[in-house]
Amino acid sequence: DLLRMSGTYPFFPPLEGSEGPVVTYQGKEVVMMGSNNYLGLTHHPKVLEAAKQAIDQYGTGCTGSRFLNGNLDLHDQLERELAELFGYEQALVFASGFLANVGVIAALGSIPGTVIFSERENHASLIDGTRLARGEVRLFADLADLARQLGTQADWSHALVVSDAVFSMTGRVMDLRRLAELKRKYKFKLYVDDAHGIGVLGPGGRGAVFDQGVRAEVDLLFGTFSKSLASLGGFVCGEARVIDWLRHTTRSLIFTAGLPPASVAAALAALGVMKEEAGELQTKVWANARYWREGLDAIGYCTMGSTTPIVPAMIGSESLAFRVARDLLDLGVFALPVPYPVVPRGQSLIRTSVMPTHTRVYLDRALDAFAQVRKRYDIPEFDPDNLPVADKEDWSWLMPEQTKSATQPAA
Ligand code: PMP
Repeated sequence: DLLRMSGTYPFFPPLEGSEGPVVTYQGKEVVMMGSNNYLGLTHHPKVLEAAKQAIDQYGTGCTGSRFLNGNLDLHDQLERELAELFGYEQALVFASGFLANVGVIAALGSIPGTVIFSERENHASLIDGTRLARGEVRLFADLADLARQLGTQADWSHALVVSDAVFSMTGRVMDLRRLAELKRKYKFKLYVDDAHGIGVLGPGGRGAVFDQGVRAEVDLLFGTFSKSLASLGGFVCGEARVIDWLRHTTRSLIFTAGLPPASVAAALAALGVMKEEAGELQTKVWANARYWREGLDAIGYCTMGSTTPIVPAMIGSESLAFRVARDLLDLGVFALPVPYPVVPRGQSLIRTSVMPTHTRVYLDRALDAFAQVRKRYDIPEFDPDNLPVADKEDWSWLMPEQTKSATQPAA
């Protein structure tokens, strides 16, 4: 209610149209700095065409589970292409990435005797999977903590370690090489969620796992079509016997309808474009990421050492993050406030991300808006190694009179 009364409520904004880097909102053209369209493929002609053709050939929906009447030859083709691209025996396609993670982790974590070790910052879909798993679940704060927990015994072959490769809010990249070393030592199974790495990292866009050269140590690789691959749906790649077991066990695959034809075809086409054009698209997105991050740094925002196209701008106060996002929108820039509990209290940020299709004109327009807002609220230059921690929410920025500076604590 406070957010609504102060005019800063940012959720469920009804966008009226999209061209990728710009969207239409309330009749106005707004630069999109808050999407996961890392390769800009949602409007690629080949992807658009494939989706339209699939509707003509198969209709608009699968009207049933892939297990029964809702499986298309397109689903099978997509699975074959994913397995080949990522170098696994088989792949399994789900109706969303969330459904893949939640179902697979719940299924594996319910095998009697299994222990799951889950990174504390993992995506909600992995967390919910661990909540549904009937076995033991342990959290780890970082790899030193994981090593300490594993150190109590020599053989963890009944354990599954689960981690994001690129953390979605801050863009932090997991040290997968160190994780692979631990795996060799303790013999656990490894599940990596590379939702944000596939497309932008690694040779041919094959993601963080290939970028860090640890493919052989990753037993199950998760990816989604809802980001670089311009569609909807998720997948898991692994050994044939494991994938076949999951195919007949995972409730979020069996008890929900198959990914619609247009979405499968769009994902297939996007995969094709990625294979052909990854080099060029990556060059563009990384050049934009550097330009954007250096621009924000120069204005005085703390971008928390981001090394990916996800670039956070630290704001600190939760309520100020909501106000900043609102002001940015008024200035023609769409970016998302990330409040507690997604990030620790007092470390609210604006999450931004770039695409290859952002021109310098768009990025400069967005930088100008960020500069105006930083000046307006005197947002501090945070030290990424010494971020503030608050013990309660600060809602003061939503109050009508805005006279104080962000560097002075609320009265
Ligand atoms: N894993 C991570 C790390 C994510 O960021 C997301 C989406 N935000 C998902 C999984 C779920 O993917 P999907 O959008 O396909 O449901």
